[in-house]
Amino acid sequence: MERSRLEYTSELLRHFADLRDGTHGGAISRQDKERLFTASVTLLDPHARQPLNEINTDLLLGTGEVTPLDLTAAFAMFPNGGMAVRPRGMIRVIDADGGTAYDNPPHTERVISPQSAFQMVSMLEDVMDRGTASAARGWGVRFPSGGKTGTTNEFKDAWFVGFSSSIAVGVWVGFDQPKTIGREGYGARYALPIWSDFMRRASRLRVPQAFEPPETLRDEPLCRISYLKPVEGCPVYTEYFKKGDAIPSRLCPVHQGTVKQRVQRAVEGFFSGMAKRVLRGIFK
Ligand SMILES: [Zn+2]
Repeated sequence: MERSRLEYTSELLRHFADLRDGTHGGAISRQDKERLFTASVTLLDPHARQPLNEINTDLLLGTGEVTPLDLTAAFAMFPNGGMAVRPRGMIRVIDADGGTAYDNPPHTERVISPQSAFQMVSMLEDVMDRGTASAARGWGVRFPSGGKTGTTNEFKDAWFVGFSSSIAVGVWVGFDQPKTIGREGYGARYALPIWSDFMRRASRLRVPQAFEPPETLRDEPLCRISYLKPVEGCPVYTEYFKKGDAIPSRLCPVHQGTVKQRVQRAVEGFFSGMAKRVLRGIFK
């Protein structure tokens, strides 16, 4: 039997979760994450095939069409702690006597762990705070929220899919018969303003809460530029690691640091692979 698109989408996201957990030993740089997500959004577009070559996606080659609804349903799983919910066009039909003529209860399924889900939330929040979607903050989306822009070849599609703790919303801009929307038809330019306007209004009805990390996650400050352990002078952000993730132990080489940190960095660099365990003890 043919699988539903939601299942395919779930599979795609599980595949990315695996990539995060396996190939890169847990700690992926922000650029890698951004790239994966851009690839995933583009991948889900029926008219863009090119990014398929960039990552090993044998699993996904049959994905075919994915609608904005499917993609939005997939993104909803991140603020939902890793649980995907099958979208429903109709919730219930009630007859004239108040009896239930038709009932369509939600169907939920765990797709990724709460830890992986929160890592995604944190990353997508960063896109809103400092990345390609930061304009949304100026358009009134000041509450905790995350999302991702998507743009396809020749600007035929502009996407923005994002969420708060209480709602997930996807916006697609394009033509029925795919053609270029306009020069510079980026998701951030065409889809993000629509999304922001809707989210701002929706937040009055569905009040957003802060995203809470699962207890098993450990938060570590990292340098925003090098994604390594920060020294004095580094712009710092918080990265979340789950059990088994490799937490960077090397000091940031980009920023200057204190005298002690510069000495530590030089010594660590000099001995590189050797006697790492001993060195770690020395500078405690
Ligand atoms: Zn740094």
